[in-house]
Parts: sequence; C-alpha cells; structure tokens
Amino acid sequence: MAKTKQFKTESKKLLNLMINSIYTHKEIFLRELISNASDAIDRRHYLSLTDEKVETASNYEIRIDTDKDTRVITITDNGIGLTESELVKNLGTIAESGSQAFLEKLEKKDVDIIGQFGVGFYSAFMVASKVEIITRSPYSTEGYRWVSKGESTYQIEALDKATIGTTIKLYLREDSKDEDETYSDYLDPQTIKTLVKKYSDYVRYPIKMTVTKKEDDEEKTVDETLNSMTPIWKKPKSELKDEALNTFYKRQYNDFEDPLKVIHTNVEGMLTYTALLFIPSSPPQDFYTDQFEKGLQLYSKSVFIMDKNKELIPDYFRFVRGLVDSADLSLNISREMLQHDRQLKKIAAHLEKKIKSELEKMLSRDRDTYIKFYKAYGKNLKYGIYDNFGMKKELLQDLIMFTTNKTDEYITLKEYIERKSDEQKAIYYATGTSRSQILNQPQMDAVKEKDYEVLLFTDDIDEFMVQVLQTYEDTPFKSLKQSESDLLDETKKEALKTQEKDHKKLLKAIKKALGDKVKDVKLSGRLKESPVCLVSGEGVSLEMEKILKQMPNASDIKADKILEINPNHELFTALSTIHEANPKKIDDYATLLYRQALLIEGYEIDDPIAFSNQMVKLMVEASKHS
Ligand code: ADP
Repeated sequence: MAKTKQFKTESKKLLNLMINSIYTHKEIFLRELISNASDAIDRRHYLSLTDEKVETASNYEIRIDTDKDTRVITITDNGIGLTESELVKNLGTIAESGSQAFLEKLEKKDVDIIGQFGVGFYSAFMVASKVEIITRSPYSTEGYRWVSKGESTYQIEALDKATIGTTIKLYLREDSKDEDETYSDYLDPQTIKTLVKKYSDYVRYPIKMTVTKKEDDEEKTVDETLNSMTPIWKKPKSELKDEALNTFYKRQYNDFEDPLKVIHTNVEGMLTYTALLFIPSSPPQDFYTDQFEKGLQLYSKSVFIMDKNKELIPDYFRFVRGLVDSADLSLNISREMLQHDRQLKKIAAHLEKKIKSELEKMLSRDRDTYIKFYKAYGKNLKYGIYDNFGMKKELLQDLIMFTTNKTDEYITLKEYIERKSDEQKAIYYATGTSRSQILNQPQMDAVKEKDYEVLLFTDDIDEFMVQVLQTYEDTPFKSLKQSESDLLDETKKEALKTQEKDHKKLLKAIKKALGDKVKDVKLSGRLKESPVCLVSGEGVSLEMEKILKQMPNASDIKADKILEINPNHELFTALSTIHEANPKKIDDYATLLYRQALLIEGYEIDDPIAFSNQMVKLMVEASKHS
C-alpha cells in the first residue's frame, strides 16, 4: 500500500516557485540529478571501505535513457540509494541550512545557485510533471518507490528491488507554445549528449547512454560514455578557465560567492599529488566557533576517499577549502589509518609552504585582494602565532597587518620597521576597543609629540599574540600602556624625579588611600592634556585582564595597575593645595581620580553609587566656593 505524505511547508513553497517561474536554464536539472547520482556513488564507495554492510559495486556508473513514446527520461545510478526514512527526510524536507536564503535568491531568478543549497533534486520538477524514484539502500532489505507530481503530496511504497542504487524517472511536461523551451528536446539523445558535455564532463564516473548506430547499413545499439571523466583538477591548467574553477568551487563547497583565491598545484616526484585549494571570499558563519570543521577532501586516483581530512591543513590555514588527489595513498585504508599516514603528513607540509607562499605573493602583487583576505581571516592568523607557544610565529609573522595612529590602511610589521626612525627602539602598540577610542586615550599624548607610529590593537587576540612574538626583527614590542621610561628623554626623566621627590608625601597619601587597588602611584611625563591615566606593569596588561575575565573559565589574574598623574595639570596643583590644607580630604580625591582613570580605560567601576555620591559631594563643596 502506498502511503501519502505531505511535503514540509518550505518544500511546498520551493516546489511552487520552481514550477511556476519561467527559467531560461531549465536544462540544469540534468546536471543536478547527475551530480546527486555521482555523490551517491561516492558515498557508497566510501562506506564500502569502512562499513561491512556496504558492498562495493564492480562498475560504478550513471545511465541515462530517453523514451520518446512515453516521454520519460530515466537516470540510473548504482550509488548508495535511499532508505524509506531517508526518502522522507531528504526529499520531503528541504535541508534546513540556507533554505530561506535560497528562496530569496530564487525569487530573484538567480537559478544558477540551485545546486548550492541542497535543493537540486527539486529542479526535476522544472521539466517533469511527475517524478518517480525507485531506490534501494544497503541498509534496507526492501526497495521503495517515491512518486510525486510536485503538488503538495508524495507517495511512498515498498517494492522488490534486487540491486542497490537509484533510478529516477522524469515524466516530461507537455510542450507549450507560450514557453520558450520545448521539453521534447530533452528526449533527443543529441541534446542529452550536449548537456552532459557542457555541465557534467568532469564527473568521475562514466555517464552512459545506449545509442543506435548505423554500421554497414545495419542498426546497432552500443553503449556510449558521454563524459571524459577527467576531474577538473586533473585538467591541464592551460585549459582551465577561472570561470570553470569558480563554478566547480561553488557547487562542490556550497558557496554563493566566487572564491577569493584558487591554488591549483601539481606535484610530481617522490610524492605525487594534485591539490585544488580555494580561499572563500567570506568565512562561513561558524568560522570563529568550535562548531567549524576544517579539512580537505581526499581522493586517490580521482576516487573519493574522505570529506574533511583534518591532517592536511593546519589550524592557522583552516579557512582553506578544497581537495587533494594522490595516487600514493592506498585505497583500502581505514579512516583511522589515514590519520597517521606518513604520505599525508608530507603532503600537508608541502601545502603549508605553498599556501604561505601564495599568500605572500598576493600581499606583494595584489594588495587589495590581500587586504580583503586579511579582513576576513587575519584574526585566525594571529591565533596561529599565539597557538602552541609561538611555534609557527616565523611562518606567520609576515602575514599579519595592523592599522596605525598615522594611517587607517593596513601595514605589515616589516613596513612598520622600515618606516620608523633609527632613534625609535621599539614597536609601539596601543590596545582598545576601536580606532577612535585608542586615538583618544591619554597615553597617546606622548607619541603625538614624538611623532611615533603606533600599531592599533583592536582584536582580543592581539596582545596575547604579542606576548608570544616578543620581538620582530630584533625590535621589541612595547605597549603604550606600560612603562613610559623609554618615551622620555634624560632631562625630562630628571625633572620628573625631582618633582616626585617634592611631592613624595602627596603621592604616598594617594597610594595609601587606594590600598592594594594599585601597585604604584607615579607622576607622569607622557601626559599632556589629560590629568591621569592608568597603565600596567610587566606581564598581564589592562586589556588582557578584561579579556581573561570574560573567558569561560574566568580567571582572576589581575594586571599590576599604576596610576599616573600629570604634574603639569591644574588638577595636580589643586590636589597639592588640598593636601597641604587638609590631608584627610585627599582620600576622597584619590578614589575619585582612580575611578576616573578606570572609566577612561573602559573598566566598569565596582561601586557606581559611591562614585556618584563622591561627585555630588565635591560639586556641592565647589558651589560653596564660587
Ligand atoms: P543535495 O544533493 O544538494 O543535498 P538534493 O535536493 O539534490 O540536495 O538532494 C537531497 C538529498 O537526497 C541528497 O542530499 C541525498 O541524500 C538524496 N539523494 C538525491 N539524489 C540521490 C541519489 N541519486 N541517490 C541517493 N540519494 C540521493
């Protein structure tokens, strides 16, 4: 008995759009169904290596037949087939991912994206008024027939089927005068041949059709293989157009955008392999989360082995997608063994070098593209430097970039060093939440005078990375929010010393009022307009303290905080006067000053109410004097 089931809402909507919109490229249905058949064969082959329930087939193939009398096109594969629940799940519902986005694109008639959304099968309804699937999976003892007219329901029933695989029958629509395509054309073997050549030539399994040929006045039927079966990555580079590679990428890796970069490499010798790698234009949504799975597809002699091989690509280049095809890998290896394969390790080492050199080339020859790349993946490179205690810093340090106080264009560390004067002994950086926030920080005062260039750090990872880098070309990194001593010349240092001596009591009183909130209270030589600033000692910086606090296993590590006061500011004069007149009053001023410095640094203050009360108190007092 056939069971009748409803399509899920999304699917219904999609079917409607497919059927009722007029597309200029209805012919792509064939490409979609062949691609599904090829994937199904890939999966059967792969499972046959790892699951004893699945037997391999002696000849993998896809067959196409056309019948002019019944107006039916039949596409048969000996791939993995579908179980009853897979029929319901895979063909009765649209894959969640991207379906909504797909509908939006479809409404704009952007038909070329059909295959990228896991909805290719539905394109069958663009040419067929009824679709029938007869299929059997090795995980099921029975076969199934799935039939639908592309309206709101479909039927499923069990049937006897001896062989594993799938047959799809398309009952073509009637030709109509109003439409610019005649469905009957698809019944012509010549049309099928042309379409296979055009869209599916690189499919790695033979796509066969039985054709009648005239030989010595006798009609003979012979099997003809319509595709060359040369996978795109095996074609000579000279024959490959960007367009073909981009299309391949988008279909194979479900992206709407062309890749930012294609790396196609052929290596022969001790180790023989082909790699076709892509850097997507935008990172996937989950790229910076734990959900993201890196990896390259692995093929052996053009036969698919596995989908996401993690060994082939290091974490710092995890944005690279693509595949490796090597004749040196044994076909019968299990997944576990693959992980440790020595050949794989060697290929991975090659690829690492290759990717790095391609990125460097991009940086020197096509800076605009590199900046696009860097905006998308720069953070990942910085993590790469930080990771494993800086094991890869040599490899990655020339690939990172920053904007500075002098320019909002990205510059490399090398460029920074080349630009700085010899007198400047360090690479300065300042950390903050945004460019403008950093530029307004009090600590920037000193470099303004010196005309130093300062790298702007706005990513959480930046300071952690610098702790690992320590130096670049023997020049140390220095935070603007740590010791100022090398920013000041000798006379200024001397003058500060004298001032500190003169105001020793006041500074001590402030320190005492603040207790262990600060490690030290000092006079500042760097501040010009600002009355105070907060800096840190060696080790954990103020920004790092904030980041560590937000981490899942929040750590209590604190920065050594130093309160710097500007001795040339009116406020300091006021403090001195008050301290002399009434030493007890200094406690309030000290905490107020400290809380202000915290606020400037973007900290939250522990007790905003106390802060506000203090302000009020002072304002009232001030009013009495005016
Ligand atoms: P996609 O192939 O992009 O996932 P489709 O709508 O084309 O989306 O197909 C939906 C699902 O149906 C496939 O993912 C696959 O699981 C299954 N499927 C389609 N065609 C076949 C086939 N010939 N053999 C086995 N499974 C198939």
